[in-house]
Amino acid sequence: MAIRNIRELGDDILRKKCREVKEINDRTKDLIEDMLDTMYEANGVGLAAPQVGILKRIVVIDIGEGPVVLINPEILETSGEQTGGEGCLSVPGKIAEVTRPDYVKVKALDEEMNPFEIEGTELMARALCHEIDHLEGKMYVDIANGPIMDLEDYEEAESEEE
Ligand code: ZN
Repeated sequence: MAIRNIRELGDDILRKKCREVKEINDRTKDLIEDMLDTMYEANGVGLAAPQVGILKRIVVIDIGEGPVVLINPEILETSGEQTGGEGCLSVPGKIAEVTRPDYVKVKALDEEMNPFEIEGTELMARALCHEIDHLEGKMYVDIANGPIMDLEDYEEAESEEE
């Protein structure tokens, strides 16, 4: 197990398109393990390979329901809309309002390269869209509805609204 360095906004690698994974070898397995360790260490709900400097189409997600590993993920279907605060481990301490589908269906390969499909609503739908965007070099700051705020200011503004 190893914690990898998380690349931050401004690093060119986050803006590159990732390559499809053709086979799983020991290096890929190590990468996936390290991505999970790195995500948990940083208290994130998702991490994409380019965030640790690797341009491969691999995403890990855990919204508190156990780890999901997605290799070569593709969005098959989306519906609905949700708007809410979204952050990213590559933009530490920041948050902004982002509109995403409220439901997504994704196909991907698991760690043995077996195809599977996964559906998500609410936070899972948001996480799937956010992480798959990373594989195209897209980041949430590009599509935010409002300003990119400090997490503390955002939480204060939210509590004042109530
Ligand atoms: Zn992110």
